[in-house]
Amino acid sequence: MDDLKKEVKKSDQSNLVAFLLIIILIGVFVLLIDDYDKQPEDANVYIQAGHEGRIFGNTGSVSAYGREMDWNTIVADEATRILRNAGVSVIRAKADHKRKSNIQLALSIHFDGSNRACRTGASIGYPHYSDRSAARAWKQIYRPIFPFKWMPDNFSKNLSRYYNYYYTQASDAELVLELGEISCPEQARWLKPRLKRLGALVAYFAAQRIGVWSVAKPRI
Ligand SMILES: [Zn+2]
Repeated sequence: MDDLKKEVKKSDQSNLVAFLLIIILIGVFVLLIDDYDKQPEDANVYIQAGHEGRIFGNTGSVSAYGREMDWNTIVADEATRILRNAGVSVIRAKADHKRKSNIQLALSIHFDGSNRACRTGASIGYPHYSDRSAARAWKQIYRPIFPFKWMPDNFSKNLSRYYNYYYTQASDAELVLELGEISCPEQARWLKPRLKRLGALVAYFAAQRIGVWSVAKPRI
């Protein structure tokens, strides 16, 4: 009897092992199909609205003046609209687009937030030494306009090691643009009525980088 019980137990165990193997195989298959679906996309410019589309996790800063996610979306949408009107192809990505892209220029739009208001301001992030000339060009455009503090390039890991750099393969540069601090009342009051025009400024910058001269510089 004991032997029989052991046999039954053994076959239960091997059933379990077989079941787990099948689950793992299905998992691998689903992952492969998912990747197959996501062949790299090609375009001139990639514009991501930071945090957009997320309902949990890092959903961005919030202040009395608005949600960062919404501000990012306004800027990214306006920049995309203007660039597409000028004949530039744009990949307009949300926070978790999770698809590799071959582009000339990748821009991720953000506004900073700080627990202690007004500790930060505008800043810029990038992963490669070769991105620095585009970073400098953006600062040349935005610095004379933005009347508040600038933080050093890549001053946080969110800037220097931004998760989305993994997905963007840019021939010119990939940049995170922090356009100001949403949690700083002075900055937020200046930024909020200018979000669309900041989108136009981002479009102008992107167009200049890729040699499209028909996009005008907006008055901010
Ligand atoms: Zn952000």
